[in-house]
Amino acid sequence: MKTCILLDEETMLRKIQNLTFSELYEKRVLLRVDFNVPIKDKIMSDDTRISAALPTINFLTKNGAKVILISHLGRPCGTIDKKLSLAPIRDKLCELTGKNIIMASDCIGSKVEHTIASMTAGNIVLLENVRFYAEESKNDETFSKQLASLADIFVNDAFGLVHRAHASNTGVTKHLPSYAGYLIQKEVDFLSHAIESPKRPLIAIIGGAKISTKTKVLKNLLDKVDKLIIGGGMAFTILKAKGYEIGKSLFEEDQLQEAKSFLEKAKTSKAELFLPLDQIVTENIKDSQNVQTVDIKSIPSDMLGVDIGPKTIDSIKKSIKDAGTIIWNGPLGVFEVTKFSTGTCAVAEIMADSNAITIIGGGDSASAISQAGLSDKMTHVSTGGGASLEFLEGSILPGLQVLLQEEVV
Ligand code: AMP
Repeated sequence: MKTCILLDEETMLRKIQNLTFSELYEKRVLLRVDFNVPIKDKIMSDDTRISAALPTINFLTKNGAKVILISHLGRPCGTIDKKLSLAPIRDKLCELTGKNIIMASDCIGSKVEHTIASMTAGNIVLLENVRFYAEESKNDETFSKQLASLADIFVNDAFGLVHRAHASNTGVTKHLPSYAGYLIQKEVDFLSHAIESPKRPLIAIIGGAKISTKTKVLKNLLDKVDKLIIGGGMAFTILKAKGYEIGKSLFEEDQLQEAKSFLEKAKTSKAELFLPLDQIVTENIKDSQNVQTVDIKSIPSDMLGVDIGPKTIDSIKKSIKDAGTIIWNGPLGVFEVTKFSTGTCAVAEIMADSNAITIIGGGDSASAISQAGLSDKMTHVSTGGGASLEFLEGSILPGLQVLLQEEVV
């Protein structure tokens, strides 16, 4: 499969910095951002994704564009859910930009058009949650046109969504000149360098619950990395495929064949495959009773593996010591339960202490790094878990394809 290599002249993204002041001044720019931030009881626990969009917002306002921000929040699935309004994000944006940001009551329609008509150079309007319309996720043609009619130029900076073809990141590009913002450029740059021209040795650590969501990335990584470390719940289907007893650990029976084919590929690959050597096991996650550390070959039949054990942590530490680049996606245990977060936290700390280029593939690993207060110690923490995973699979992502320079599309 062709990989989404975006490093050379030929395959470059159309970048916003190539737009001049006169091309932007007083122009209406529809800017797709990913403001899908965690909000509970009106409290935002992490504003990373909002801060990450600031370089693009600032560039556009400094050049006198009228910036129309569009985002989703949660999964309202085509219905209006006031709890998923972007209003709290407007307040955060005002604070971060020092500007008065106008909140629109919708994302299409005459009221929105009226609000946009009253904008002047450098103004910012935040549209209401685009997923209040079911047409958004369906990449509906009419809806895409309605969104596009609000603006003269489209800029995409929502990296977290580039693996999806939705109206507000793909559909609109059929109707407007379209460019990549700074965040998307940065994400693509880090991920493509890490995978195509890394400082070696290149080590990937892949964890998480389900192997079914990661077989493609595992197989692609075998062709790219020097060492592939696998942990988390997904390791057990592979261990089972190797003939190990895994007790009551997470197991996807329908993935057994895939796991066997992955192991076959690993045998002939130049990458060294590393699987857990020991596990923290328990009878049940909820009560966390009877917690033991066992060798990977001795998981009791009535227990399940919930975290990597000390021998595994030690071995990962040794493997990582001389790494040139480390990519990490997915927790190595049930890290939401403090008792079973030791392995995930240890890997976060090992990476923070390493001199390697460290790339965190978003999602749960980014949360773990952030909880440990180690985000600043990583070279790059991606804002898109699913997107970075699909990028590492080698897939051409629809949200990026529409931003590639014309001649290579
Ligand atoms: P994913 O979305 O596939 O990256 O999976 C993240 C989830 O994997 C987290 O909610 C973890 O609790 C879960 N997880 C990691 N290790 C295990 C394990 N050994 N058993 C069950 N779940 C796990």
